[in-house]
Amino acid sequence: MVPPLARTPEEWVSALKGLGGRAFHARQVFRWVQGRSVLDARRMTDLPTGLRDKLCALELERTIEVAQERRATDDTRKLLVRLRDGATVETVLIPGVTGPKGRLPSPVALEDSSGTFDAMEQGDGDDDEPEALGESDAHPLVRVTQCISTQVGCAQGCVFCASGVAGLKRNLGADEIVAQVLMGRARLDPSERLTNVVYMGMGEPLANYEATERSLRILTHPEGLALSCRRITVSTSGLVPEIGRLGQDFGGKIGLAISLHAADDETRTRLMPINKKYPLATLMDALRAYPLPPRRRITIEYTLVAGKNDTPNEARRLVKLLRGLPVKVNLIPMNPIEASPLGPPELAGVLSFQRILCDAGYSCFIRRRRGDDVAAACGQLALLGAKPKVRVKRD
Ligand code: SAH
Ligand code: SF4
Repeated sequence: MVPPLARTPEEWVSALKGLGGRAFHARQVFRWVQGRSVLDARRMTDLPTGLRDKLCALELERTIEVAQERRATDDTRKLLVRLRDGATVETVLIPGVTGPKGRLPSPVALEDSSGTFDAMEQGDGDDDEPEALGESDAHPLVRVTQCISTQVGCAQGCVFCASGVAGLKRNLGADEIVAQVLMGRARLDPSERLTNVVYMGMGEPLANYEATERSLRILTHPEGLALSCRRITVSTSGLVPEIGRLGQDFGGKIGLAISLHAADDETRTRLMPINKKYPLATLMDALRAYPLPPRRRITIEYTLVAGKNDTPNEARRLVKLLRGLPVKVNLIPMNPIEASPLGPPELAGVLSFQRILCDAGYSCFIRRRRGDDVAAACGQLALLGAKPKVRVKRD
C-alpha cells in the first residue's frame, strides 16, 4: 500500500473506498494535501465529516515533524526533520534575491561583496517561465529554493561530505521526501513562494530511485504543487544506470546536476569511491545520452578541495573533459566538516579556477555559502543530527 503522502489522485480513489469515501473525494484530498499543504484532515472542509474523521486517524501530519528550525542571518532556514522512526534528516529553505516584480537578476549580477556568485537557487538564466501569480512592484515576492534529503546518511562515502561520513542508515520513503516540501512550504513567510526544489540534501537520490521518482511525480502533478520539471534539480554523484532511467522516465525534463569534483579518474576516485564503479568515460557517455530539451543545460558541481583538485591544470583538464556538452559549472569551495582536515582553497585560487573555465567559454559560477551560521551549507547537514559512524582517511 502506497503511504498517503505519496499517493496519486488515482491511488487515493481506492484508498478512500476502504474508508467509505467516493471516487470524487480522492481529487479533493489530493488537492488539500499536495496543492495546499493541509495535512490536518479537520481542515478539509469540503469533505463529509465522517470521512474527515477517518482521514484524521491516518495522522498525515505525523509523517514527519520539524524537530528544530534554525534561521541564519541570510534568512536561510534549516529544518531538522524527525521521521516516524526517530531518524533525522535536514531540509533547507533558501530565499533567492528578488528584483523588480520578483524577477531575479541575472546570475552575473549576483556578485556579492567577496567577489563570488550565487547560482544555485535561481537557475541559469535560461528560464523564461511566467512570474508566479500575485507578484507586484509593491510587494515583490521572494522566491525560495528548497533543498531536500532522500536518505538518512549516504553510502557513497565522498571524503569531503558530512553525509558520506555518517554512512547510510536507510532510504527515505517517497512520502517522507514529499513531506519535507509540504512542511517547508507551510513555513514560508507571506512574501515568499516556493519556486524550486533541489535534491541536494542528505543522501544520493538515485540510489533511492523508486522513492525519488515517485516524489518527482507527486511534486510535478498538475493538481498538486504542480512544480515544473525544469524547476527541479536532482543532483547525483554519478550513478550511470539511474541517470539513464531518470532521463527516460521524465523525457530529460528534470534538471540534472552531476557532482564531478575532478576531471581525471585518479583524483575523482580518491575523492569519490563511486568513480571506481562508474569512471569518467562511462559517466560522460551517460551525460551525452541524457535527453536534454533544447536550451537546457546540465549543472556540473565541482567542490574545490585545497590541494586535491584545485590547480589551474585541473581546471584546464575540466575544460577539455566538458567540451561539447551543454553545461554550466558551479564551483563550491569546500565547506569544512568536523570529521575531515580537508578544506577550501584561498579565494584567489577559486577565482583563478573560475577564470580558466570562463575564458574557455563556460558559464561558471561560484556558489556562495548560504546559511553557514546554522551549518546548513552543503555537506554540513549530517553532523548535527547524527554522530558519524566512520572517520575519513586523513591523507
Ligand atoms: N548525493 C548527491 C546530492 C547531495 S550532495 C550528490 O552527491 O550529488 C549535494 C552537493 O553538495 C554535491 O555536489 C556534493 O558533492 C556537495 N558537497 C558535499 N559535501 C560538501 C562539502 N563539505 N563542501 C562543499 N560541497 C559539498
Ligand atoms: Fe553521498 Fe552526495 Fe555526500 Fe557523496 S556528496 S557522500 S553522494 S551525499
